[in-house]
Amino acid sequence: MALQVPYHKPSVGREEIDEVVRTLESGWLTTGPRTAEFEKDFRQYVSAPHALAINSCTAGLHLALAALNIGPGDEVITTPLTFCATVNVIMHVGATPVLADVGADGNIDPVSVAAKITERTRAIIPVHLAGLPVNMNAIWELARRNRLHVIEDCAHAIGAMYQGYQIGAGNPSTGYYSDACAYSFYATKNLTTGEGGMVTTHDENLASSLKRLCLHGISKDAWNRYSDKGNWFYEVVESGFKYNMSDLQSSVGIHQLRKIEQFTETRTRYAKIYNEILGDVAEVETAPDRDDSRHAWHLYMLRLNLGKLNIDRAEFINIMRDEKGIGTSVHFIPIQLHPFFGAYAKRPENHCPNSLELYPRLVSLPLYPAMSEGQVEYVANAVKEIAHASRKQYMAVGGGA
Ligand SMILES: *Cc1c(COP(=O)(O)O)cnc(C)c1O
Repeated sequence: MALQVPYHKPSVGREEIDEVVRTLESGWLTTGPRTAEFEKDFRQYVSAPHALAINSCTAGLHLALAALNIGPGDEVITTPLTFCATVNVIMHVGATPVLADVGADGNIDPVSVAAKITERTRAIIPVHLAGLPVNMNAIWELARRNRLHVIEDCAHAIGAMYQGYQIGAGNPSTGYYSDACAYSFYATKNLTTGEGGMVTTHDENLASSLKRLCLHGISKDAWNRYSDKGNWFYEVVESGFKYNMSDLQSSVGIHQLRKIEQFTETRTRYAKIYNEILGDVAEVETAPDRDDSRHAWHLYMLRLNLGKLNIDRAEFINIMRDEKGIGTSVHFIPIQLHPFFGAYAKRPENHCPNSLELYPRLVSLPLYPAMSEGQVEYVANAVKEIAHASRKQYMAVGGGA
């Protein structure tokens, strides 16, 4: 069947296109005035005093670990239900990733985190999976008690709010906040610049480290100190990276950020339609949410009740595509199942049975503002029809009619 509903389509409008053209015509293509404007707007939006535009979320996580001097001999705790980048960056700095299991909502479980802390643990990287905020108060409490850093993987979480505050703002009422938050503007994310990201912090010293490491380890202080030498002079004070965002990307980001509230409202409305139509279908379980927070609804992660179905997840995905013309995806293949993590997966500290049990049940349904309400209803009804047609039949015991 022809594709009726693709898994994803970005929402990029005239405003983004016109701004990119103006930037090209301005003659300033790389990091410059538009990136400064995007950073300022982003700081205001998430209520964080420092924001650094970078070329990916992966870069942001890597920079944060490096700026916090996390390295060989150190352990960093994260979730197995994430994109491989979250774990790769821990390995990039030479530290050892340790996996804590997920709770019923699919997010990292603070109880499991507590059980995995050793004298070598230096940081926790929670991931707000699908845009659903992690129980941050419990994570911040653990971090304070054990003197750990917290770096939030906010790849799915732009627009999400935890207990009334934007993800990235921390919790001003308790005084807790994370060391850094890293956002993704990859093509499929809620806000896109094609490729791109942002890293925010509340710590001024960390902000200058992040900035220095982002651009070759070049010290701006030295630049200012020796400004009598002219604007050609610079000093490299450490081995940095090349992670800056260009003004072409920022031109897109500035306009995407202005639309993010609208995008989030549409996503929330569509998630509600899925919940309403699928809420009473016994063969599936609707995506988790929490009352005290605002879900960013980056993903709608449906769960199949495999015990009630005579098909598995792969068959469900094939029927959705071949018979209904609907694209779906899976988030995520647990980290321990990837060959690169094989040796670590066998270690008892990386034992995460909940994540492995949840994985075969997960199917992400299309969810993006460029969908129509009719398409959302079409997808939900398709799921319902497949669920009913694939209902497991039970034999009546005792030879009844
Ligand atoms: C997309 C994603 C990333 C990586 O984002 P990039 O901007 O592509 O580097 C990291 N973590 C999670 C959970 C993601 O989904």
